[in-house]
Amino acid sequence: METFDAIVVGGGPAGSSFARTLIKGGARVAVVDRAAFPRVKLCAGWISAPIWDVLGLTPREYPAGLWPWRTCHVHYRGRAHAIECNGWFIRRYELDDFLLRTSGAAIHTGIAVKQVERDDDGFWTIGPLRARHLIGAAGTHCPVARTLAPARPRGPVGVQELELPLPPAAIERARLGDDGEPELLLHDDLRGYAWNVPKSDWLNVGCGTVDPGEVRAAWSQARAHFDRLGHLPAEAAAPLDHVKGHSYYLFHPDHLDRAARVDADGKGGVYLAGDSLGLAHPLTAEGILPATLSGRLCAEAILAGDAASYPARLRAHPILDDYRRVLRARDALSRLRRKSSPGNGHARRARGAGRVERVAGSAVAAGFAWMFSGARLPAPRLVDLALSAMERSRS
Ligand SMILES: Cc1cc2nc3c(=O)[nH]c(=O)nc-3n(C[C@H](O)[C@H](O)[C@H](O)COP(=O)(O)OP(=O)(O)OC[C@H]3O[C@@H](n4cnc5c(N)ncnc54)[C@H](O)[C@@H]3O)c2cc1C
Repeated sequence: METFDAIVVGGGPAGSSFARTLIKGGARVAVVDRAAFPRVKLCAGWISAPIWDVLGLTPREYPAGLWPWRTCHVHYRGRAHAIECNGWFIRRYELDDFLLRTSGAAIHTGIAVKQVERDDDGFWTIGPLRARHLIGAAGTHCPVARTLAPARPRGPVGVQELELPLPPAAIERARLGDDGEPELLLHDDLRGYAWNVPKSDWLNVGCGTVDPGEVRAAWSQARAHFDRLGHLPAEAAAPLDHVKGHSYYLFHPDHLDRAARVDADGKGGVYLAGDSLGLAHPLTAEGILPATLSGRLCAEAILAGDAASYPARLRAHPILDDYRRVLRARDALSRLRRKSSPGNGHARRARGAGRVERVAGSAVAAGFAWMFSGARLPAPRLVDLALSAMERSRS
């Protein structure tokens, strides 16, 4: 047996970020993954500004494909909006490989972990590896997550996507904006959205829905929409018949209750990070940022000699605190929409309604694009007060 301070199951952004941080603190970490890296991971590849701080990197230090963008093209309720904000796109094939290889971990790939075991001395064992700390970072179906079984108050979201290589000239002819600028199609009820992202010689097209049962229909609609506008190169037609699907959990505060179980002596424990816990942004479904953040916070808690503080560190972090607000706001707005829908007996005033809808539509498009770029919520305390007032008026 080879003994490490921690074993991580899953070498995606959550696992490699955990390993990178713990190793910087002087520990020995082994990462086990069923895939050989670089590996394909379904993903649009958008990353937002806060990720650079979380990773302790600057964009210049990232050696692989990076597409900075400054305009987000949003289509919502029949209208097109070009929103000025900023962010980056990467290719997951490259990002995850880079993060894992530079983490400093002992990497064991091609090992699909089915179940985890503990020996009589309190060591978690996977094949010939053993450690007192075990981190589950293997995504939605992480085998370690079965040990902690986080509550799932809501079902997972469904997503379909394909990233395909195409001649750069074909992409340039079809794209709406500049290279790397995302084009989004928001569903009228905001229960899903689709994207079309040109990355020089790669095109990434996909969609996601709150209910996985709706994702296939949403994909057909999204494809028809981008096709109608002439934004899909003809060469993409055949490959786009073969999109792949996946599902994962968006952030819910209840998930955090089962983020860790620490041994009585504080020297070992089991933890969940990233998709295995369910941390993706409650509106945009951005998951790379919270995955890296949770990996880092978990390692920092262990390095501080206070592993049990990991769930509290997650809860207290400003990024996840914002996610909690966004979830509350999303719930409050959907209740409001149900209440004010014509079917509920509220007469719509024809005059002025069109203008109000246009303003509201622009606000939704801008709000979504800003969240997409990782902007923090302004005046969080005021937002909390407003949300409490909305919730009180309902009860
Ligand atoms: C179609 C799609 C598009 C997305 N687009 C974006 C986006 O543009 N931006 C964004 O921020 N987020 C996006 N997400 C979400 C994001 O991909 C995830 O939230 C993120 O990958 C979570 O990282 P992770 O490290 O927790 O898990 P993962 O990245 O899934 O890594 C888990 C690792 O565990 C390994 N593994 C799994 N099971 C086992 C096992 N039994 N034994 C050993 N190893 C195992 C896997 O091989 C994998 O390498 C998207 C998701 C989907 C499905």
